[in-house]
Amino acid sequence: MLSDSLYQEVILDHARSPRGYGLLEVEHQHIHQENPSCGDQLDLQLIVGEDDRIQAIAFQGHGCVISQASASMMTEVIEGKTIAEAEEIMAQFSGMMTGDSTIDPEDLPGDLPALQGVKRFPVRVRCATLAWHALDALLEAHKS
Ligand code: ZN
Repeated sequence: MLSDSLYQEVILDHARSPRGYGLLEVEHQHIHQENPSCGDQLDLQLIVGEDDRIQAIAFQGHGCVISQASASMMTEVIEGKTIAEAEEIMAQFSGMMTGDSTIDPEDLPGDLPALQGVKRFPVRVRCATLAWHALDALLEAHKS
């Protein structure tokens, strides 16, 4: 089934020309995450406004197609969302990766449904969730 394959065109496209790639030029929260099992590296930056809305999000890094595509797709759907909305999307994505039957992958926003095939490759799930762990950590830091 096409929607279940690991390297869909939309994934390759995000990896080739990642959205949200770069550095934010203003003061920001920042975190570095690594996935040693694959060699993926990722730096994520975030600006949260006083209205708890994510005003800007950007990443830099290198690694496999899955890790880069997931980060790219994430920045695309997270920018402009409130923290609560972002947490809801994080939960949906986590559910999709762990095969939670209550989550319909096609309900995920943006291009995220394209990553649903990754769950069949447990080693690659770490690649797909790297950026999301970074986001989770930054939001937790912001709230505390
Ligand atoms: Zn990887």
